[in-house]
Order: sequence, then C-alpha cells, then structure tokens
Amino acid sequence: MTQTPPRLGTLTPVLVHTPAYSQMAGALTYLSDSPLPPGTLVRVPLGQRELLGVVWDTAPQDGATSPLDPAKLRPIAAALDALPPLSANWRALISFAASYYQRATGEVALAALPPQLRDMSSVQLARKLKKLAKAAHVPSNPAHRQDTSAGLAQGLSAAQSAIYSIVLSAEQTGAISQFHQNSGPFLLFGATGSGKTEVFMQCTAELLANSPNAQALVMVPEINLTPQLEERFKARFCALYGEDTVVSMHSGMTPAQRLNSWLAAHSGAARIVLGTRMAVFASMPQLKLIIVDEEHDPSYKSNEGARYSARDLAIYRARLEGAKVMLGSATPSLESWHHSRPAAEGGRYMRLDMPSRVGSGQLPLVRRVDMNHQAKSCVISPPLLAAIAERIARGEQSMVFLNRRGYAPVLQCTDCDWKSECPNCSAYRVFHKIDRTLRCHHCGFSERVPRACPACGNPDIAPLGRGTERLEEHLAELLTGVLRPDGQPVRIVRIDADTTRLKGALESQLAQVHTGEVDVLVGTQMIAKGHDFRRITLVAAVNPDNALFSSDFRAPERLFSLLMQAAGRAGRDSAVAGSSEMWLQTFHPTHPLFEALKKHDYPAFAASQLKERQQAAMPPFSFQALVRAEARTQEIAQGFLNLASQAAAQQSDTAALLAHLTLYPAVPMSIARIANIERAQMLVESPSRAALQRFLTAWQGVLHSTRQLPDCKGVMRWAIDVDPLNI
Ligand code: ADP
Ligand code: ZN
Ligand code: ZN
Repeated sequence: MTQTPPRLGTLTPVLVHTPAYSQMAGALTYLSDSPLPPGTLVRVPLGQRELLGVVWDTAPQDGATSPLDPAKLRPIAAALDALPPLSANWRALISFAASYYQRATGEVALAALPPQLRDMSSVQLARKLKKLAKAAHVPSNPAHRQDTSAGLAQGLSAAQSAIYSIVLSAEQTGAISQFHQNSGPFLLFGATGSGKTEVFMQCTAELLANSPNAQALVMVPEINLTPQLEERFKARFCALYGEDTVVSMHSGMTPAQRLNSWLAAHSGAARIVLGTRMAVFASMPQLKLIIVDEEHDPSYKSNEGARYSARDLAIYRARLEGAKVMLGSATPSLESWHHSRPAAEGGRYMRLDMPSRVGSGQLPLVRRVDMNHQAKSCVISPPLLAAIAERIARGEQSMVFLNRRGYAPVLQCTDCDWKSECPNCSAYRVFHKIDRTLRCHHCGFSERVPRACPACGNPDIAPLGRGTERLEEHLAELLTGVLRPDGQPVRIVRIDADTTRLKGALESQLAQVHTGEVDVLVGTQMIAKGHDFRRITLVAAVNPDNALFSSDFRAPERLFSLLMQAAGRAGRDSAVAGSSEMWLQTFHPTHPLFEALKKHDYPAFAASQLKERQQAAMPPFSFQALVRAEARTQEIAQGFLNLASQAAAQQSDTAALLAHLTLYPAVPMSIARIANIERAQMLVESPSRAALQRFLTAWQGVLHSTRQLPDCKGVMRWAIDVDPLNI
C-alpha cells in the first residue's frame, strides 16, 4: 500500500461502472481512512452520484499524465466490509474477461455483481446479512455443517436412499474414473440419454462428500428450459446438505432472489451454484468443479455488453482456481471437439465417451421424406401424417417442429408486388393470425392487418410461407377424425415464444405434455432442447433445409446439433423406445449432413465440417472478431469502419501486426436496418489468437480517435465482438 500522510488517507484504486468506452477504463483513485484490501466493496462518489465500486489491485492509471493531487481526491463514502472481499481469483477472472473481450474492467466487474447490491448502503447490507444468517437452515460454519450433513445422511428416508443406490452403467463408471485420474479439462461426449447428468451429479457428490468446503458451479444454457436438471440437483443434494446447498442464478429471478443466491455463494454457504451464463462470474471462494452442460449451446455467448463466452471463461476460470472443468454434450461445438482430439494431435481436453443410452433405450430411427416426390403445396407429407396418426391411435406422442413462429413470415398482395415490409427495418413483418396483426420480430412494430393492399387497394392479400401458428392449424385440419385410444379427438398444443409469453405458461404447457393430455406438440426449436419427454416416440422436422445453404458457416453445425437434440427427445422411455422415429422432410435427402444424422454419427459429421473449416481457414483454425457500427446511414457506418481500418495501417503499433491479420471491408449486417438504425460490420481474422488480441487492444484507441473525425459524427455506437458466433 502506498505510504501517505495519515490525515489524507490511503490512495485506493476503485473500479466503478464507467461507460464502456469512456477514457476512464481503469480504476479511479479515492482516499480511504484505513487501507482496504483489494476486493472490498465500497460506495464512492462520482460527480453528483454515489456508486458501488470494488477496491482493485492495479495501480491507478491516470497518474501518468496528471500527477495525483491528493487535495482533489475524494474519500470513499463507505466500505461494505460486512462482506468478505472478492477473491484474487475472481478479480483475475474479471480482468481477463475485460481485456479479452475488449471492455472496461469496471463495466465487467460491476455487471458481474447482483444488481441489488448497487443500491444498498452498508447498513442495509449488514442488516440483510444478519437476517440471512438467522434464516439459514444450516450454520455457515463448516464444522457445524459437517455434523449436520452426517446427521441428515443417517436419517435418509428409504425414497432418498433409493436415489443413491443407482447402478451406474459401465460407460458412466468409466467416464467417472477417468475424471478422477486426470486433471482435464474434460469433454463428456455422451449420446442423449446416455446419463450425462448422472455423471455430473456423481462427480459433484464425491467432491462435496470429500472436501467439506468445496463448491461446484453447474452451468446450463437456459434454466427455464431445463427445470428438470434443477429439480434433480435439488432433490439429491438438498436432502443431504440442507436447503441452502443448491442456489440458482439466472435472469428470470427477482433482484432479491439473485442477491440471496449471490450472497450464499460468496459466503460459501451454497455449495452448488446452478445457473446460466452469468453464473460463470459468481463469487465462489472454494470453487473446485465447473460443469458446462450442453456446452455447444449458443446461449453461452452473451449478445450484449461484454460479449463473453461463458463456456470459454469456464475453462479459463478452472485453470485460475485450480478447479476441474467438464463440458458435456451429445453434439459438442466444433471448437470443443477439435480441442478434444487426441493429445498426440495437439488436443488439450480429455474426451470421455458415452455412446450408448442407459438401459434398453434405443436411438430413434431416422427417416427422410424426399419432398421432390411430394405434391408441390405439400406441408406434411402423407407418410409422415400417417405415422403421426398411428401414434395418436396408440396413445403415443409426436413432436413436430418448424423454426419460425407466427402464422406466415410475409403477407403479399396477389396483384401488385406489395409485401408486408417493416417500415423501420430491412425485414418483413410476420403475420399473426390470432390477433390479425403484422408484427416485426426485430423492432416490435405491430399493426392490424390492412383490409386491402396498401399499395393498390386489392382486397386479396395472402400469407406466404408458414410459421408454427399456421402449421398447428394445418395439422388440426389434417388430423380431424383421428381419435385417441380413449375415443377422444386428438389434442394439439403449440409451444413457442408467442404461446409462452405469460409467466408460468411454458410450465403449464410442458405439464400437459408430461401428463399425456397432449398428443401432438408443435413448436419452434424451443421444444427440441433439453426436455425429458418420456412418451414422445416421433419427432419431425418439417422444413430443415434452409440451414444447409446459409451464408453463415456455422449454420450446418447448428442444424445438426438441433436435429440430434430433437431426435434425442424421442424414445427416452425404454417401454416404448423400440419404435421411436425421427422424420426429416427435405429436398436434399442425400445431403451428407442427413446421412450422418441417420447414423447418429456426430464424429463423422464433425470430421467433414472440420476439414472444410481447415481448408477455408475458418474457426477453430483461425480466430475472428467483428466490429459492428450503428449510424443513421450505411455510408456513415461503413465509412467509419473503413477509415479505422485504413488508420490501422498508418499507426505503428497496429501496422506492425497487420502481417498476421486480415481486415475485411465493411459490409452491411445481414439485417442491415433495425428500428431505423443502419448497421454495418467488419471482420478481423488471424491464424494467431495472440496477434488478434494484441491488434484489438491497440486498435481500440484508433477506433476512438476515428470516431472523433467530422465524417464519423453520425456514428451512434460501435462495439467489438471477439469470437463472434453469428457472422
Ligand atoms: P443425458 O443427460 O445424457 O441426456 P440423463 O443423465 O438425463 O442423460 O439420463 C437419462 C435418464 O436415464 C434419466 O432419467 C436418468 O435418471 C436415467 N439414468 C441415468 N443413469 C442411469 C443408470 N445408471 N441407471 C438407470 N437409469 C439411469
Ligand atoms: Zn397490391
Ligand atoms: Zn421492424
């Protein structure tokens, strides 16, 4: 700590949430009566406001240009020292994330804390902590906790002990023993229904039993879609260690709930944190295990602020903390798959294989319907329809999915060329029949459907194409007269973003599926992920072809994974598994992607994709970043990016790196205009991650100064996305 005259106090660097690209990217300096350890939460004045801040360890950065004048420094208003300071590992994670994803450290640090902390005084916080300590079922003192859990374990009910007497499959046992004998990182490559979750729980259980203070972080893509996982963890671990053992962290929680979870993790009282991507930043002083379930899921990548990948940060964090990390998927991301190739070929992760389903559950038979041989207007081909009807009559369930919600993606005039374009976006408004609106899915602009064509007055305007709403209507027509075994007419339910808008709607719809009230489930990819639907024996993808020829090089990877996941929904119950099927309606039945899918052969698919990526020098064989800019016109947005690109060649620190990089010309984004704002992007690519990182760090300053040029006045925002998922 700096030696200062006692009356002035100690110079203390504090991170606050400064605007992302303000020049105050580092810590600010305040005065403190007594030295505060790094990681202490404080309240500090900034301008007229008082903000939450974190005492940081870096030397203040503003000293270089203007020597600090202690007379001008302001004192820290209060230290929230009822809380133990955030650990050095946590601070290192934040610093890394900020520098890697090119954001201000203060922004990342403060965004990683529960929002409610921002508005709490030290008195309020102390009161809150007291209340929590009183309410705690289990004392936070570790010695006590051990006693209590031993007592609980002895008092286990028969039902509870039954959970533990599960006989692991040979593949599960193999994976777990590999996990124990090696340091990782691990990629658990297990078929859907192979018992991955069980492996996660076993590894967690052993950690908790063997190290009395150890904590585990379990991440899932979207917690609302995987409530079953939460239930399973709670059922197993709360019975053993008490109610507070498992806490959740996701954006669906109230601010008060999030604060409670955060405090429980920070104090060590919670031993398992179950959360979405934000949980990667949870303060867990005794973190020893990180699990990333469905690691391929794009929702691990943040799409605002610091665009971090929680999966990648999990790997980094595990190394920092000396914790083990296990990624799991039936269809790993090609990045993780590539990392898990044999060590002799340069792989850094250890792959744990579980190819078989638990018990007698078989993977479904994949059937392709060649749509070239069907009637032109055909939506559900006759053989698929017959197969669905057969399931209904047998009392089994079917799931039909289509990746487009609404009734029809476009309305069109049958006379002139009017289409339902959004006035604010370069996109069509989607027709929703239920309330007869045209809704823009990008800016939200919504209007009643016009009675006649706004351009020529023709009253005949017709839907073009098909969304889930129309598919549901169509299926209902096709299936009229088909009866369930109880003689009742068929029941169809649709699940998509429109039907689940109300709180609790998704849960009640899912319950209908689980109890068997529903025979046919129609929906978007939302229904294809994660749910454990026991009675579904048929899954159908109505129109999966779009992704085959997309300009996004990751589209085939996403399609394959979605279809494998969807197929994984079928036949989970061994009683009905023998006949489970996945149907694909396609105009390209012999496409290699579908061939690999038919064989449930992810490794073959991955090998062919990786070969293509290697030939084209695309990730994971190169590293990318996107700079996106928004302005009133495309000219301004693109002009700014192109000027910054030219300036990079003129400035020595960036120019020196250009030999290792490709800067592509600025182009409009795939949806160029949203809510009347034009969007452009520039791709930066390098075979070296380090070179890309060094370039971006140096280029930040260039981008800032370019924006000050008169030609760039109209630029509203710009931001860097490192390792972008959508290009
Ligand atoms: P995954 O996560 O790989 O899809 P799960 O862990 O959810 O698979 O397991 C699928 C089903 O099989 C679950 O209902 C689970 O309880 C059950 N299961 C897992 N392991 C075993 C086992 N060793 N013996 C019996 N059932 C198991
Ligand atoms: Zn018209
Ligand atoms: Zn719009």
